Amino acid sequence: MKIKISYKSLIQKFHPCTPDFIKNVCHGNCCLTDNGLKNCHIAIVPSDFRKLEKYNIKIKNGLLQTDKRCIFQDNDGLCKIHETNDYPTFSCRIPPLTLNKNNILIVENRWRNFKCFRVKEGKIPVYFSHRKSLEAIFGEEKTKFIINWLETKKTDLEIDIDDEIYQEMMKKTEILYQNLFNKNFIYKH
Ligand code: SF4
Ligand code: SF4
Repeated sequence: MKIKISYKSLIQKFHPCTPDFIKNVCHGNCCLTDNGLKNCHIAIVPSDFRKLEKYNIKIKNGLLQTDKRCIFQDNDGLCKIHETNDYPTFSCRIPPLTLNKNNILIVENRWRNFKCFRVKEGKIPVYFSHRKSLEAIFGEEKTKFIINWLETKKTDLEIDIDDEIYQEMMKKTEILYQNLFNKNFIYKH
């Protein structure tokens, strides 16, 4: 499966997601309730569900049900399972990157509301600030190639993506799309 990586979207600058920044500046705002969904935005795809079912979480229409804040977030905004093997593969490791319905990898729009985008200092292109998200999708070696391409060629890149990862990403996009817009989601494949 081939997708396109949008240079224009991935050149946007963000502050890296460091524990200090989370604790003192953004407070993990991306894991809080927003968008009028009445729960956090975390779409639980099948591979996440297998990891998280032991926590007795509630899922409705594919979304993790929470009361304002994700149940895995501490009072400083840090994720309590971030460094564990239970860290959800797709729902939380891939943002702020997402695949749109035209199979283009972009930065999800909602991230432009958060402090990591809005602060003035310390920002770098998202392919550096959230390199781990790229690695979760493409692995380390391909990520190096992608970053080198974006840095030197400064154009979009067409690249192969693992079929299973593609399906999980599209499932996540579909869940969010249906919950936000109450519309079915049709993607090209
Ligand atoms: S993605 Fe941005 S808002 Fe979310 S925890 Fe990281 S720095 Fe904070
Ligand atoms: S599991 Fe962790 S990263 Fe994911 S929404 Fe909850 S606190 Fe945020």
